[in-house]
Amino acid sequence: MTVSMKAAVLHALGTPLAIERVPIPTPGEGDVLIRVIACGVCHSDVHAVDGDWERPPVLPLIPGHEVVGRVVALGPGIVERTGSVHSPSVGDLVGVPWMYSSCGTCDSCLAGMETVCSASEATGYTKPGGYAEYLVAPAAFVGRIPEDADPYELAPILCAGVTTFRALKRTGAQPGQWTTIVGVGGLGHLAVQYAKAMGFRVAAVDVSDDKLELAKSHGADLVVNAATSDPAARSAPAAGSNPTATSDPAAGSNPAATIQREIGGTHAAVVTAVAPRAFEQAIAMLRPGGTVVYVGLPGAGQDQVRASISAITNRELSIRGSSIGTRGDLEEAISFAARGLVRATIRKVPLEDVNAVLDEMRRGTLVGRVVLDLE
Ligand SMILES: [Zn+2]
Ligand SMILES: [Zn+2]
Repeated sequence: MTVSMKAAVLHALGTPLAIERVPIPTPGEGDVLIRVIACGVCHSDVHAVDGDWERPPVLPLIPGHEVVGRVVALGPGIVERTGSVHSPSVGDLVGVPWMYSSCGTCDSCLAGMETVCSASEATGYTKPGGYAEYLVAPAAFVGRIPEDADPYELAPILCAGVTTFRALKRTGAQPGQWTTIVGVGGLGHLAVQYAKAMGFRVAAVDVSDDKLELAKSHGADLVVNAATSDPAARSAPAAGSNPTATSDPAAGSNPAATIQREIGGTHAAVVTAVAPRAFEQAIAMLRPGGTVVYVGLPGAGQDQVRASISAITNRELSIRGSSIGTRGDLEEAISFAARGLVRATIRKVPLEDVNAVLDEMRRGTLVGRVVLDLE
């Protein structure tokens, strides 16, 4: 076996990734070594590379947390098990999500909320990720991928898929009710499909007609262009809207008014967009008793929303957050995709193109998901 591998490495925040050869990692206690086949490029990777978040990534960093690959070696301490108690074996197709590990013993972990464990590690952020030919991951946290699944189409399920699937569950919406997906990017185009597969009626909101076309092709029942919907000035001030926000192209329009007029307000909304205004508008899209779940993460300095307290109180609205997914969520999310109910729209590119892809994401022009081909 060779001792070095090709990887895309971040040496300083805000600089391009360097394509270079680095040592193949050695699996530690309880780890597996994975030969990477595919790794999706997530908007969080842009935040990691640009150093947008309060807690910076561990440098030098190999980003990437939508990893599908094959187990090629087991570290010490892995006991082969089968049946309902399972651990990966050499040759298994597996996925590595953002949640590299959680502690397993804190209050959050014990309550089935390992997604918010404060001692968790993050793939491609605090631990080396999948923009490389190999990575190691704890056997207890890798997802099982069915052998007949397409590794490239499956890769985006490891973050974009599981994240939106959990967010939809956290809306508490019932089949037949309206769920509005705000932002039809890498996460949103999967959210539309999960929502349809879960039996919701689906509205999709974006500022790009290309992305709305994609939402329609995935079964969205209603699409609303947030840049050209009802003019903000002509509509009654919608609950939760921020009339002073002017930092985005959609500032002069009011998609919430369109949603209220067309479907009487949405029972639930999931915000995968990153513009702060989208988070505010989503509150105003809700019908009384509705729930909005925030998933997208704006960049530095944009981390605030303004909302009407009286609207939230009087209309009994709920605002929740949702972050990635548990291992249970991941298994369910993979199952939807493996059964063909959810299918990522992907473009395969070689590792060498990753900097150009990150630029496309910064501009917001990317439709669907880019997946790095590491075979
Ligand atoms: Zn992600
Ligand atoms: Zn924990």
